[in-house]
Amino acid sequence: MIRIKNIVLPFDHEPDALEREIPARLKINKSHLKGFSIFRKSLDARKKSQIKTVYTIDAEIQDEERWLSENQEDPNIGPSPDMVYHEPKPGSVPGLSPVIIGTGPCGLFAGLILAEAGLKPLLIERGKRVDERVRDVRQFWESGTLLPESNVCFGEGGAGTFSDGKLTTQIKDRRNRIRKVLTELVDCGADPEILYQAKAHIGTDHLIRIIQQIRDKILSLGGQVRFETRLTGLEIHQGRIIGIRVNDDEVVLANTAVLALGHSARDTYEMLHASGVSMEAKPFSLGVRIEHPQTLINQTQYGASHSHPRLGPAEYKLVSRCPDGRAVYSFCMCPGGKVIASSSEPGGVVTNGMSMHARHSKNGNSALLVNVDVADFGNSHPLSGVVFQKQWEAKAFVMGGRNYFAPVQRVGDFLAGKPSLSFGEVVPSYSPGVTPCDLRECLPGFVVEALAHAIPKMDQSLKGFAMADGLMTAVESRSSSPVRILRTDDFESQSIKGVYPAGEGAGYAGGIVSSAVDGIRVAEALLAKLNG
Ligand SMILES: Cc1cc2nc3c(=O)[nH]c(=O)nc-3n(C[C@H](O)[C@H](O)[C@H](O)COP(=O)(O)OP(=O)(O)OC[C@H]3O[C@@H](n4cnc5c(N)ncnc54)[C@H](O)[C@@H]3O)c2cc1C
Repeated sequence: MIRIKNIVLPFDHEPDALEREIPARLKINKSHLKGFSIFRKSLDARKKSQIKTVYTIDAEIQDEERWLSENQEDPNIGPSPDMVYHEPKPGSVPGLSPVIIGTGPCGLFAGLILAEAGLKPLLIERGKRVDERVRDVRQFWESGTLLPESNVCFGEGGAGTFSDGKLTTQIKDRRNRIRKVLTELVDCGADPEILYQAKAHIGTDHLIRIIQQIRDKILSLGGQVRFETRLTGLEIHQGRIIGIRVNDDEVVLANTAVLALGHSARDTYEMLHASGVSMEAKPFSLGVRIEHPQTLINQTQYGASHSHPRLGPAEYKLVSRCPDGRAVYSFCMCPGGKVIASSSEPGGVVTNGMSMHARHSKNGNSALLVNVDVADFGNSHPLSGVVFQKQWEAKAFVMGGRNYFAPVQRVGDFLAGKPSLSFGEVVPSYSPGVTPCDLRECLPGFVVEALAHAIPKMDQSLKGFAMADGLMTAVESRSSSPVRILRTDDFESQSIKGVYPAGEGAGYAGGIVSSAVDGIRVAEALLAKLNG
């Protein structure tokens, strides 16, 4: 196969444009092109009057080797690299099955790799199966009845189940692990376009089905999954794990445990800290969800072509630096999505965002975050970041009315320094309900200052971002883990042998794909160890 990068076509090109463009780029007769597939497809909307689609293509042609040896001058053309994920060597099970705690992307992919290698991993999950979990989350969104063990953060599929399902990641991947994740998602029902879309997303409605398929695959390979089973203790002998305690009263013997806990398992962090598992406080970010009409974002990003069906709902990514050095940035933008209630414990309001696959809701929203350092926590205790998060989530709870309504302020009122009393053009999408207020009372002063500084600046890049009727919903506090569970270069806990901290909750990933990839890396390390 020959890889051709940077094929640029108008975004509304004819269906057969690539078939014409590829032979032209290779300077071959059209009949010598045997076939091609898209490796990457992205949109370039920097010039609104000339929006382009940019392709990377893998083409199969006649006399490929000869063509490649004779044509080496174009840096955008060369042999296609290997894109296959090479499975680790199968492992033998010396006695006990490896236990994986958590069935988010990290736990599921660690489990899948171990099951594919012939081990029979046991996955335990404090929450419920995804179908039951969906009912609990809907009930919370409708009535404000929060179940502390079954919510947007806890349950099968982990934190990203109710999400936009964006699959973008910044991580480097030389071993095709990202490809493995995407291929498995497609095998389990995701749209094959995710294999090449530069900004692929799945959507909550599709994710719910896909997660069940991944679980079924692990089960069919001999793995086990236990729901409503919470890790509550570690059994340790001479610095090595010999078992785990679940639901306070049952011991499961184990000499290997992968901690794929996610960023919200505060009780588990406490237990691990008390058990001597090394960890430290970690910086994260705090802020709000900001919401605009999706049509405004489309118009600003795509100009006159904004309603063309090929373009779909537009995204944005904004960054601004404040005079004191703090960064303010948009994160996890959900085009045509909803701001959602994501609390996982009583007495705290937490917001996040999600979209359905069609991204067809009226508003677009994104997190607008300010970076928070360990110095902001007041002390350097490993769990000081958790205490800091809780403090602001509790304030938001009180401001909202103590019923999981979220405090919301119009952007215009926020910038003018006055409380909101009602809303205008933009209708809040958050449920179970919202309370108009002054967000200054439930955000740290430095976050308020940073947001007030950044929003007008961001409006210069994205016209309308500071629209007076835009809405800010607080508090977005779970953008990443406030804790890092320390591990060695071999992925093992620095203090307890046989314990493998992994994924977002351990501080080694952020997002669906990077967490899944970290799960794969940890499973590979574990297999390498078992195989000596
Ligand atoms: C609303 C929302 C939207 C998001 N949108 C996106 C997006 O579009 N794209 C993206 O890339 N990322 C998104 N993210 C982030 C992404 O979901 C996380 O980065 C990812 O899920 C982390 O994976 P993980 O497996 O490490 O942890 P998690 O997914 O958090 O999974 C951890 C699992 O461990 C379980 N658990 C915790 N403690 C215990 C215990 N003691 N015993 C047993 N089980 C336990 C939890 O119930 C949970 O199921 C979103 C997150 C949220 C909350």
